[in-house]
Amino acid sequence: MENKKLLLIVNPKSGREKMRGQLLRVTEILSKGGFDVTVYPTKARGDGTVRAAKIKQNEFDRVVVCGGDGTLNEVITGLMQSGVECTLGYIPSGTLNEWSAGLHIARDIPSAAKDIVNGEMVELDIGKFGDKYFSYTASFGAFTEASYSAPQDVKNVLGQAAYFFEGIKSLGNIKPIHLKFTADDREIEGDFLFGAISNSMSVGGIVKFNDANVELNDGLFEVVLIKNPANLTEFQSILDGIIRQDLGRKGLEFFHTKAITVSGGKDVSWTLDGEFAEGSDEIRIENIHSAIKLIVPES
Ligand SMILES: [Mg+2]
Repeated sequence: MENKKLLLIVNPKSGREKMRGQLLRVTEILSKGGFDVTVYPTKARGDGTVRAAKIKQNEFDRVVVCGGDGTLNEVITGLMQSGVECTLGYIPSGTLNEWSAGLHIARDIPSAAKDIVNGEMVELDIGKFGDKYFSYTASFGAFTEASYSAPQDVKNVLGQAAYFFEGIKSLGNIKPIHLKFTADDREIEGDFLFGAISNSMSVGGIVKFNDANVELNDGLFEVVLIKNPANLTEFQSILDGIIRQDLGRKGLEFFHTKAITVSGGKDVSWTLDGEFAEGSDEIRIENIHSAIKLIVPES
């Protein structure tokens, strides 16, 4: 039987260059698994998108990303832009984000490579944000920067509660953001401290959803908005609601939708899968149902 063709897009700089020492092992596992492996090291930021967009239909049986969140996002963006259908694999070089952890992708590089060979395919939704794409979260506001910039081990040691105390301490410094959200028959306008449109079991490991509320391939996002609280008591109640996964509290908005329009956010900074994205006066965020096929470990 003819070998299947696999393109390995590697970011040599990600994960403190951890991937460099493992690359031969990874190609060996994939080769033994019946793939002809072509390795493409990315040369600069954005190069993953450029390379992925050049892939032709049926040129590769699998495209595997070795790198961090940023590289994965670049490759998904390239594939979404070209519209070429291709099965994706992901070998994370650094810390696992909440999305890949939720999909049970292995933290250990050789194990993740073995799962590319033996795993099973799932279809997943992808978010479209203006002309950009994200696989798990688009967010803005207060906790965004802190939650993504803090290393995972620090978050683990401090725990969620300590994290929120940091938030409370800096409440005086948080400038609420005035925005309008339009989704289905909802129109929500007000001052917000934080907002996330996500397709993941949690947002930055901070806002955790009840598992029964989330499906990664149902064509729907989860939207969480935190309004600017009137006083400290209301703020405490909001934080308590988040910690207890009780998102029905006053000051919180939580709903599912397949598309949402955000108006009035020209100067608002967004974070897409942990990467900075510029806001604009009107942004359309759409869930592209079953947009990608990803190899995950066998269940
Ligand atoms: Mg969903």
